[in-house]
Parts: sequence; C-alpha cells; structure tokens
Amino acid sequence: MSNIAEITKKAALAFEQYAFTTPLQRAHFLETIATNIEALGDSLLEQANKETNLPLPRLTGERGRTCFQLRMFATMLKEGNYVEASIDTAIPTKTPPKPDIRKMMHPIGPVVVFGASNFPFAYSTAGGDTASALAVGCSVIVKAHPAHLATSNMVAEAIVQAAKATQMPENVFQHVTETSFESGKELVQDDNIYAVGFTGSRTGGRALLDYASSRKNPIPVFAEMGSVNPVLLLQDALEKNAETIAKNYAGSITLGMGQFCTNPGILVGIKSDALNTFANTLATEMNAIAPSAMLHAGIESAYLKNSTHALAQKGITSLTKNTPSSNNGFPVLTTVDADTFLSNPDLAEEVFGPYSILVQCNSMEELKEVWKSIKGQISTTIMGTDLDFSNAPELLNMSLQIAGRVLLNGVPTGVEVCDSMVHGGPYPASTDSRFTAVGVNAAKRWLRPISFQNWSNHLLPLALQNNNSLGIWRNINGGLTKDEVVS
Ligand code: NAP
Repeated sequence: MSNIAEITKKAALAFEQYAFTTPLQRAHFLETIATNIEALGDSLLEQANKETNLPLPRLTGERGRTCFQLRMFATMLKEGNYVEASIDTAIPTKTPPKPDIRKMMHPIGPVVVFGASNFPFAYSTAGGDTASALAVGCSVIVKAHPAHLATSNMVAEAIVQAAKATQMPENVFQHVTETSFESGKELVQDDNIYAVGFTGSRTGGRALLDYASSRKNPIPVFAEMGSVNPVLLLQDALEKNAETIAKNYAGSITLGMGQFCTNPGILVGIKSDALNTFANTLATEMNAIAPSAMLHAGIESAYLKNSTHALAQKGITSLTKNTPSSNNGFPVLTTVDADTFLSNPDLAEEVFGPYSILVQCNSMEELKEVWKSIKGQISTTIMGTDLDFSNAPELLNMSLQIAGRVLLNGVPTGVEVCDSMVHGGPYPASTDSRFTAVGVNAAKRWLRPISFQNWSNHLLPLALQNNNSLGIWRNINGGLTKDEVVS
C-alpha cells in the first residue's frame, strides 16, 4: 500500500467516528486550534516571513483572519442551524398515505485540501477550507504548499495537538508534505476521498477537476482559481474623480505586489480626456512604487514570463516605465484598444502580480462588447455615478452574469469574512459557482442532504428528534420554527 493510500485509509477510519461527534465538541476543537496558532507567537510569523517574503504586518493580519475564521465556524456549530433541519410529519389519512420524512445536512466524507502559496495562513493548512470541513464533521488531509512547508508544519502541529487535547479521533487531520503533482493526483483519485478543496492557479485547479472527474466515482472539486477582476470606468465618475480613482487603483493593483486573487487586472473605459487623466495618474502612481520580492522564485519567474508575453502582443503599449528585466515584482500598466483586446484572448488572461491592462473603447457599444467577452470572475467592479447607471443600466445586470461579487465604487482587493460574502464565481474563477470559499457558507461545500423516512423518534439524529433539544431553527411542515414536533 502506498503512503498516500495509508493516509486516506486512516482519514476514512477517522471519519467514521468524527462525523458523529457533536457540534459542541467540534466547536471546542476549532477554538483550541485558534488558541494553539496564536500561542505559536512571533516564531510562526517569522517563519512565514522567511518563506514567503510577505511583510510581518500583513502576516499578523492574516493570522488574525485565520483564527477569526476558526472561531466563526465554532459559533456556527454552537448555533447549530447549519444542518438545515426540515421535518414533514406523516399524514396517514392522505391517499396514498404520506410518510414521516425528515431531512438534514450530513458531512460528505474525508476531504483533501490544497493550500495556496499567496495565503500561507488563511488559505492554507488551517485556512478556510480546512476550518469549514473540520467544522461540519469531515476528516481532512492537507497537501502542504511547497513554498511554505515549515510554516505549514508548525500550523499542522497546532491542529494535531488541538485534536489530542479535545479528544478528537486519531487522524482527523493529516498533513502531507510530499511535493509532487503525482501525490496530489493520487490523493484526489483515492476511493476514500469524497471531495477536494483547492486554492491556486487555473492550471492546477483544472488538473484536479479532471483527475476527480475521471475517477470511476467522480467527486466534487471546489477550486478557487485565478481571476482578473475587471473594472468598468464610467464617464461621469471619471470626469468627477479620475485622479482619486487612479490613486486608489494604483494601491489596489500593487497591494502585496499584486499577489491577490482579487487583483484588478483589467480596466475598461471609453476614450476621453478624463480616461487619459486616469491613465496618466495611474501610471505615475505605479511608477512610484518600488519593485519588491515576490512570494517565491516560481511566482517571480511566472510574472516575468507572463508580463513579457503580454507586452509582446500586437497593439499593446506600456504606460509604465518598468521593463520586465528586473528581478522583483515590477508594477506594469499596459493599454490596448478594444478591437485588439477582443481579437486576442491572451490579453484577458491573468498575469499574477502587479500588472493591469487598460482597454480603451470608442463607444458604449464597444464597451458592452468587451464586458460581454469577459469570462467568469471572482469579482467585477463598476466605477460610476447615478447618471452613469441611468445612462447604461444594463451594465449592472450584465455584471451579475460574470462574477460572484459585484462592487460599485470601490476596489476588489480586501475580502471581508462575513455571512454575505461570496468568494467564487462562474468558471474559470471557480469550479462550482453555487458556493463560496469565504464566510460561514463555505461549510455548505462539505455537506450533503439526507432524508430520514419513517424513523422512530429515538433513532433519529438529535437535530431531527421531536423535542428539539438543540434549540435550533427547523422547517416543520413548511414553517420555520424552534417548536417541538407534537406527535
Ligand atoms: P498553484 O501553482 O496552482 O499551486 C497550488 C497547489 O496545487 C500546489 O500544492 C500544487 O502542487 C498543486 N498543483 C498545481 N498543479 C497541479 C497538478 N497539475 N496536479 C497536482 N497538483 C497540482 O498555485 P499557487 O502558485 O499556490 O497560487 C497562485 C495562483 O492562485 C494565482 O493564479 C492566484 O490568482 C490564485 N489564487 C486564487 C485564490 C482564490 O481564492 N480564487 C486565492 C489565492 C490565489 P505542488 O505542491 O506539488 O506544487
């Protein structure tokens, strides 16, 4: 038996017990993981800083977000409503008689999580995928990202110790540090695995989806992939505020050296003096930002290769002074006209790093054509005033078709962790646009509904028993209530 097969077998054995732990037991487990991560103190931050080049203040914030997420899922468990209990009581007098049917969500099974290099905490070992899967009762195997293995090992140990301290089943969490595509493929294709969480590149996410779909028994892959987060710059907004908008966008494009999946990579506007002011100000601001080290050599060389490729395309002009020869992440702003953009699909591809392309259109009709050509995205943004929106109201509805998050007058970087956040979108932003990877609803990815038909009350899970001892909201015969079922 291979090493991977042994690991997945252990995850399956752990799941048999873990799926039936109580929500309160799992809440205690998640809170203990958060406490253990915090207890690692500066040594964890320093290790991540060494491996990722991310500055300490950014890492401190990301660690805070990671622990917040763990505690958010603990709160979800204490409230208990996530099981979406539903009860249809029997009507024996109906023809034919209606049986007693009750439904609730149940953990899907052992899950494999692939972490991203650009979020060593929040989208990695104890990140949102792991926290949400452990919350609902799935055992988890994390495939550590090779770019921050030592950081991942420290966090993994914090999780293992938390599992021991809270008497969770052995191997409820396992950490794989073999860095090869083969081990990733074997994990995804192993019979004991029931779902996959991934954050990373489109190539990586697509490969995992294909591995999962070609299994004898295909399983869901929830992959969050690259995105160019297009921005529409409408006329009245630019006329009123071109310089301020440009300054805000210079900050957003170069934030963290552009290494965010929400980085605004395509800007679209109609040719005008105001658009020229915007472009010139943005280029000046980006020129003033010093290049700095990127996450790792692989990301740096991919940025050099992809930005060089973009700049070599016919009809493209660079507005910034950097040339792709520097060793670090050098901010680049390019521009093309709409015709060129529409005829060359390469120009719409993500260049992961501090890069953005400004597409200049001749008319509103052309702008709409560009907007329609945009494939699935994590976010879209429209910079506009009420006058702009009344001139072209259809742009709002068109945006809903493109992305999981539609912003008006803001920047797409910065993802709030809250119940209403959607972090995902139509392919290729993610592999399943019905779900979010951020916020409490991320837990829905690891649950499946089960109907319990004709079960005696005492055999049912607590959430579905008549007396509602958990005090949760339940849909009883079509109405939401915390009442008991009167039998
Ligand atoms: P990556 O290169 O795709 O790597 C992520 C993980 O996937 C690694 O563990 C890697 O395995 C594995 N992997 C990649 N291709 C594989 C294959 N063909 N078979 C098996 N395993 C494979 O991504 P990254 O460099 O970490 O992250 C950068 C990208 O992530 C950017 O495009 C960015 O936009 C995107 N991103 C998206 C989000 C989001 O929420 N949507 C968030 C952050 C980043 P190995 O360990 O063996 O190399």
